[in-house]
Amino acid sequence: MGLARRDVLRLAATTGAAALGATAGGILLATPAFAFPAVYNPFAGYPISDGWQDHINRGSLGGIDFVMPVGTPLPACGAGVVTNIPENGTGGNTVTIDLGEGYRSQYMHLSQFLLANGTAVGPGAIVGLSGGAAGAPGSGSSTGPHCHWHMIDPSGTRIDPLAYIAAHPGSPAPTSGPMYHEIRAASGAWSGFQPLNGYLTTLPGNAKDMAIAGFADGSAQVAIIGADDCVYHRVRNANATWSSFQPVVGVGTTSAAKAKRISLAALPDGSAQLLMIGADGTVYHRVRNANGTWQDFTRVSGYQTTAPAGAKDVAICGMPDGSAQVLIVGMDDGIYHRVRGAGGSWSAFGPLNGNGTTATALGSAVAITGLPDGSSQTVIAGGGGALHHRIRYANGTWSAFQPVPGVGTTAPAVAQDVSIAGTADGAAQVVIIGADDAVYHRIRAANGTWSAFGTLPGNGTPTPAKGSRVSIAGMPGNVAQLVIVGR
Ligand SMILES: [Zn+2]
Repeated sequence: MGLARRDVLRLAATTGAAALGATAGGILLATPAFAFPAVYNPFAGYPISDGWQDHINRGSLGGIDFVMPVGTPLPACGAGVVTNIPENGTGGNTVTIDLGEGYRSQYMHLSQFLLANGTAVGPGAIVGLSGGAAGAPGSGSSTGPHCHWHMIDPSGTRIDPLAYIAAHPGSPAPTSGPMYHEIRAASGAWSGFQPLNGYLTTLPGNAKDMAIAGFADGSAQVAIIGADDCVYHRVRNANATWSSFQPVVGVGTTSAAKAKRISLAALPDGSAQLLMIGADGTVYHRVRNANGTWQDFTRVSGYQTTAPAGAKDVAICGMPDGSAQVLIVGMDDGIYHRVRGAGGSWSAFGPLNGNGTTATALGSAVAITGLPDGSSQTVIAGGGGALHHRIRYANGTWSAFQPVPGVGTTAPAVAQDVSIAGTADGAAQVVIIGADDAVYHRIRAANGTWSAFGTLPGNGTPTPAKGSRVSIAGMPGNVAQLVIVGR
């Protein structure tokens, strides 16, 4: 696209959402769910000897050749199902990964297959070993060690994987900024934003995304994506002391998990649930037990597929009955919801329809919170960033998405990020990053009336705080705690 997400939203704020496509009541109409599987380049570290156009120029159907020694493990570029094609003409041993939605990826000239036909893999799973040595079994027409990679689109045409990734990048790479925390007392008084120190330092730290969850004992937990893309977690005790940030270890490694987006939910039993978009663009879930130990990461499957969900934003909230509710912005920008029961079983993802349409709502950011009566409330940055709100009642039925007006206008507020937190009194507090980067806060009372949006002063200044990401948590006694990635 060439435009940063922020710039797109600013554009939309001045030109109207219609500039971005067909709209229905301010929410863009969806294309089919997960039409574009999440794909990343697993060979970014290898030199290209023969690019896409080079292949075309010499009469090939297309591909990219990455130079690597024979026997190099070949990671899957995305989630899918493996098929091996031995001695596939000039391509030699070829592994196909069916990525879903009609898209396939093929690696050629392998020296060895590693997985049985029909094996379902996640992104990064090793599907075979590279080959390509001239004349070796499986090399086909290759004259030297390399891996040839191309994709095939639903029409059967070969396409350039790097062009595909550029066109469907998933969530844009977030930028980092200073971390701030503040508390809103039940009286409505604010503590003022205070900087948070980073990992292994007493100096203020930076983050790319932040999430906060409040617990019944008065403690809060904060999960962040650091400037190094790694996931860190810390606890703010009820007595206002903080534990230090600790890295959250990734899957099959002793080093920290890397992520693009993060959300954190508090459960009534004192456990927490972390939901994140990993570096591969897919969704992971993990439980932190009340005693502070972590269960394993699990993958979250997508809408109408057992393959991992690709996503652009994620949100999770705990409910009074021990269940959790999840929202994601899919790769198609559609908004999807599912429930994780208290026992750990998941309902299927279902699309949320837009305002005044049965088509799936589109958006760029999502947030959800549980209320004491068993209902949940959702806010999204919909088409063009337009802020919308809806309720899921305890019986599972939904109110319609309703636009939430901005300051001094009847038009919806334009948000770059959104967060919502329920409190014991049945109210919900909404915080957004506006189109002008300022942090705005308002309250939806239990009776459905809204307070006016107000800005929050920045750290050590009366001028409004500016940020890129925001998260708010409800605490006991109708207190709230807020974290932002500042600018
Ligand atoms: Zn090639």
